[in-house]
Amino acid sequence: MKEFNLNTLVRKNILNIQPYISFRDHNEFKAPVMLDANECPFGEFNRYPDSSQKKLKKKIAEIKGISPSEIALGNGSDELIDLIIKIFCEPKKDAILMMNPSFAMYAFYAAVNENEVLKLDLDENFEILKDDFLKITQEQDIKVFFLCSPNNPTGNSVQDIEFFIQNFDGIIVIDEAYIEFSGNKSGIELLAQYPNVIVLQTFSKAWGTAGARVGVAYASEGIIRFINTVKAPYNVNSLSQELILNLLDNKEKLKENVDNILRERTWLEEQFKTIECIENVFPTDANFFLIKMKNAEEVYNRMLKEEILTSKRTPAIPDCIRINVGSREENKKLINVLKAIAS
Ligand SMILES: *Cc1c(COP(=O)(O)O)cnc(C)c1O
Repeated sequence: MKEFNLNTLVRKNILNIQPYISFRDHNEFKAPVMLDANECPFGEFNRYPDSSQKKLKKKIAEIKGISPSEIALGNGSDELIDLIIKIFCEPKKDAILMMNPSFAMYAFYAAVNENEVLKLDLDENFEILKDDFLKITQEQDIKVFFLCSPNNPTGNSVQDIEFFIQNFDGIIVIDEAYIEFSGNKSGIELLAQYPNVIVLQTFSKAWGTAGARVGVAYASEGIIRFINTVKAPYNVNSLSQELILNLLDNKEKLKENVDNILRERTWLEEQFKTIECIENVFPTDANFFLIKMKNAEEVYNRMLKEEILTSKRTPAIPDCIRINVGSREENKKLINVLKAIAS
């Protein structure tokens, strides 16, 4: 990688924004009388949340073996995707790059921010073609590359991630929403070496708390400072901060969820082999399968009639449906319905 200067990548207006600092959250008090924020003095959740999420970041930092200053929290990692685009991409001027197919939210937030979306078509095994990557990054001025691994909706992990980091001058976001299911090492290990990397993780999938809306960005102190500057001051509410703090005290819960889902994933994979309309189950490192079927549209609609909701990927991925791993009871119902459709 060439020399890296964060300030030349950040939008000029963002460089000059002063973060909103909650005086209360940045000072220590023993038993303060809080008459500074126009809150109600009564009630359990009457106070604004800690805008800098100190306790939660400290705990996550301990677990991950990094500094709290290298962590930003978002209202889901969706918010962090939005903020990253806002920090680096000048509306109507800059472009992002994403894999195709991949997670739809990158293009969504880029569109809201009026940034061009360049797509890197994956090969038949849903891998990135390195030559295509080198060509597009040399020809186009790309600010942010969203690299999703394991990739949604294909399920596979990106191979040789360092190659893409080393050959890209912009910001590279490694979205690890499904990392817990993969057994792969996290990109967090690469942060010390590569100042242009941001790793995203979430409590929405393996941790089982999608309703709490908490996502995490890991990056250099410099990048984290910009995320904290542009985020809404109270972006993670007190209930969610408390919930996740308690959850982190109970790491068995994560293991339990992951073990259970991996066991069910194996069970489903075996069951899929017995279903005639299934042509191909793509290898997955995540908690879902991308499945190629005969008459995918029809199968999708017939499952829907039975109130089994799956994710139709046609026509973007021809003949494919994405189905996530549920509880044993849900999985059994899915298999029974698929068998009935196939017969
Ligand atoms: C589900 C998902 C997310 C994020 O979710 P939040 O609930 O906003 O944390 C991020 N990236 C990918 C690829 C996902 O599939």
